[in-house]
Amino acid sequence: MRVRANLISRLVTINDVEAAALAAVDEAAIGRLLLDLLAVPSVTGSAAESEAQHVLAGHLERLDLDVDLWSMDLASLRAHPDFPGGEAPRTEAWGLVGCSRATGDGPTLILQGHVDVVPPGDVAQWDGDPFRPRAVGDVVHGRGACDMKAGVVAILAALAAIRAADARLRGQVSVHFVVSEEDGGLGAFGTIQRGHTGDACIITEPTSGALMVANGGALTFRIEVPGQATHGSTRYAGVSAIDAYLPIHAALARLETRRNADADPLMSGWKIPYPLSVGTVRAGDWASSVPDLLVAEGRLGVALGEDPAQARADLEACVAEACASDPWLRSHPAVVTWPGGQFASGRLPAAHPLAALVGDAHADVTRSARPAEQVRLTAVTCACTRERESRRCSTDPVTCGSPTARRSRCGSMRSSRWRGPWSWPPCGRSGDCPYGRCRERRGGTAWIPCSTPKPSNPPGAR
Ligand SMILES: [Zn+2]
Repeated sequence: MRVRANLISRLVTINDVEAAALAAVDEAAIGRLLLDLLAVPSVTGSAAESEAQHVLAGHLERLDLDVDLWSMDLASLRAHPDFPGGEAPRTEAWGLVGCSRATGDGPTLILQGHVDVVPPGDVAQWDGDPFRPRAVGDVVHGRGACDMKAGVVAILAALAAIRAADARLRGQVSVHFVVSEEDGGLGAFGTIQRGHTGDACIITEPTSGALMVANGGALTFRIEVPGQATHGSTRYAGVSAIDAYLPIHAALARLETRRNADADPLMSGWKIPYPLSVGTVRAGDWASSVPDLLVAEGRLGVALGEDPAQARADLEACVAEACASDPWLRSHPAVVTWPGGQFASGRLPAAHPLAALVGDAHADVTRSARPAEQVRLTAVTCACTRERESRRCSTDPVTCGSPTARRSRCGSMRSSRWRGPWSWPPCGRSGDCPYGRCRERRGGTAWIPCSTPKPSNPPGAR
């Protein structure tokens, strides 16, 4: 039997095997599994993040996959020259991969999703406990419902349906569930270092149904600008680090203009394809003192195809030139360092068949037109994964929102329901604040944001 229907731009063609797999999709089970997974408060860097990996390992085993669950060697990964950075305190990281048994000589397709979520922030501004998920109609509420536990569940549901339909695959499917996506990409990096690679990769991040075939990168930088302290009443005897920073700030604006002058045509839809943004500036410790230090932190956009090392060199040269032109900074130059996340850009090669394959499958299932191919500019959720899997391991990536993800409500900080500040590092949900930074406890079960939030840029919005 072949099912055909006229669509806006193409004909739906679903063969018998595909129809059987679609018929085997258990929506009620998907909903239950999503709620169960959302109840695990897998804030990046927390013990619950590890718990989520162990819970998911059980699901992969029940799907009769060959499962690799391992504790990553953090010391050796952090010492690796390609370590993507990190922002959350972390004492462990678990990798999890499940592979179908090879039944033919076809390619290996990776389905990848991250299990960690960003902290919930001020829980008083949620309608309910962010880790007590609930479904209201066809909308799921809970931290990580959209980004991206719905995508993780969609992967499991797809494999369960294929298994239930007894479909025989020509190649192999490899499921990668990763930690630490929100704070750097350590999980994907460690998974690849473990040797788990493939021929193509689909990341089920939320994209509102769009097909993301490329994304810019982002590098977190810090600039320390020295001054010379003195009392404010004799400020002329010192040098304000704030004043010293101003020419550097102007030079950074010029650098952004220069780096965007000849952007890849793929980025033409963006007003500024590769933004350079200073997110925090801190200076001084007393109102009546001339500040002797200013620390500015921000993110530098990485162009498609650009080596991150080249982008870093660009910014360092820019700051050095600004210092060389300034009487004070010439002999007291600013210092540039690169803390936090370091994300390369990534893209699917032009004319690669994966985008059309995924787009057509999406259209078949949703009975709509093939989703638009887009480029993601900011919030480079899996840039590290895409870049490394495509560049180092001959794995071609593509990201596509799943129907399941579209049905869930984004529990992201960037959703309309969020108005409060960030809390970082993630606060404990009960007991003593593990970082000694929380001011008080609210309602005995949750903490209000820390009084000294870190880092300057929230994870997932670089
Ligand atoms: Zn994500």
